[in-house]
Amino acid sequence: MRLNHPIKLIRGGYLYDPEEKGVRDIVLLGDRIAWVEDQFNAVYPVEMDVIDASDKIVIPGLIDLHVHLIGGGGEAGPTSRVPEIRLSKITEAGITTLAGLLGTDNVSRHLETLLVKAKALCVEGITTYMYTGSYHLPSSTITGSVKRDIALINEIIGVKIAISDHRGSQLTFTELARLASEARAGGMLSGKVGVVHVHVGDGNRGLEPLLDVVEHTEIPINQFLPTHIARTSSLLQQGIEWVRKGGCIDITAPKDGRTAISIFEELYASKIDLGKVTFSSDGNGSKPKYNDQGGLVGMSTGNVSTLIKTFRSLVEAKQTSLVDVLRLVTSNPANRLGISQQKGRIHEGADADLVILDKDLCIDKVFANGRLMVDAGRAVVKGTFE
Ligand SMILES: [Zn+2]
Repeated sequence: MRLNHPIKLIRGGYLYDPEEKGVRDIVLLGDRIAWVEDQFNAVYPVEMDVIDASDKIVIPGLIDLHVHLIGGGGEAGPTSRVPEIRLSKITEAGITTLAGLLGTDNVSRHLETLLVKAKALCVEGITTYMYTGSYHLPSSTITGSVKRDIALINEIIGVKIAISDHRGSQLTFTELARLASEARAGGMLSGKVGVVHVHVGDGNRGLEPLLDVVEHTEIPINQFLPTHIARTSSLLQQGIEWVRKGGCIDITAPKDGRTAISIFEELYASKIDLGKVTFSSDGNGSKPKYNDQGGLVGMSTGNVSTLIKTFRSLVEAKQTSLVDVLRLVTSNPANRLGISQQKGRIHEGADADLVILDKDLCIDKVFANGRLMVDAGRAVVKGTFE
């Protein structure tokens, strides 16, 4: 089925918006959601595409706030640079909104390239944001300053930096505080969150550099969104304490479901506010493995599909409701990125980003900005070079 009419009626699906709403009819008008009703009874004013979603589940399009759109890696030399991501990989994973970033390599990877890639994916159908900066200081920028990048470039919603990692710039307290203040000011000037998205490495200090800044400056704790928080159990414990202090954390969705379940068990048992937690894929990033001496012993890459797989594993594990799990990859990341009016929820006026799942939680259809991108699990809209 190829659906192209600008008006679409998604009939009789079981809606999680992400709250559980039950059977609903949803009308898409262009790139927006126009109606969400028990039963859409209006006499069809004009022709429209009708999609039968009975026996299916309708959820918001997933939001992935950490994706290496132009590829990460490079830690093992020129041959270890991960290639650019392709549109169909993203949409077939149920993702309709994402935020791109640089990693270790800010020598052969440039923010201008990332920005143009973000724009290309928008033209191809999804919604894309990005962070300025990379692991390092001085921050890579497009306009010459982090503040100006965030204030002046639509797609840029924050800055990326690395702490507690041997690959990072080993920031001082003052440097980290200054960077956060730049991001905060840039965010205020543009009405964005100005988030400081912090890659936290394997180093022993973990979140301590962030805690120092929060305790000894006026920067509020929610200016920061630390990620990779489940990489070690001690960092996860620090992350839980960080949430108790009012902060938010991001967790890289693991490749295997069992690890995801044990991470979630720990979060759930800690009784922290799960609204402060997001999962992201680290898609297209490198996953280097180091030995005890710090030598590189292997390399794999992250995949954006870990997000939907983690969602499925956690729902099937039945530790909590589907709603609690769905929020981690929809409304929570929308809140973190400051885009919750339009993204991460299904309501009238929001962007028409939705995923239709089979009863076994496999992806059937994906709509991004009202356009059918995936049908029967396969991309029907391809990127230019696919
Ligand atoms: Zn990454």
